[in-house]
Amino acid sequence: MIKCLYCKSIITGRKDKRFCNSYCKSAYHNIQNREKEDTFFKKVDKQLKKNRKILKGFNKAGLVTVRKEKLVKEGFDPKYFTHYWKNNKGQVYLFCYEYGFLELKENTKKKYLLVIWQSYMDTT
Ligand SMILES: [Zn+2]
Repeated sequence: MIKCLYCKSIITGRKDKRFCNSYCKSAYHNIQNREKEDTFFKKVDKQLKKNRKILKGFNKAGLVTVRKEKLVKEGFDPKYFTHYWKNNKGQVYLFCYEYGFLELKENTKKKYLLVIWQSYMDTT
């Protein structure tokens, strides 16, 4: 017994048929295309969550320094962050939700100082 991929009604006739008619066929493909389309929102959302997961994974201690390339290798993209916090030295910490990072330059190596969002950072 074969069911139409779109409306799920039983198809009679040829065994290789996947849809009951051309309407079902095009309706099904329209939905498929819409789902395949990686919208900008989804892309950013995905990257932010990925960044957060990576920061979280490297920041078990709450405050740690890691080589930038280590994070990038995991799929971290510093262009995507949710907000920032500037300390009194003017250093800008970028955050992905509650996990933040500050780029440091030691010699030629780029490093990140990883931090966790603190309630005092909310005051501007
Ligand atoms: Zn159908």
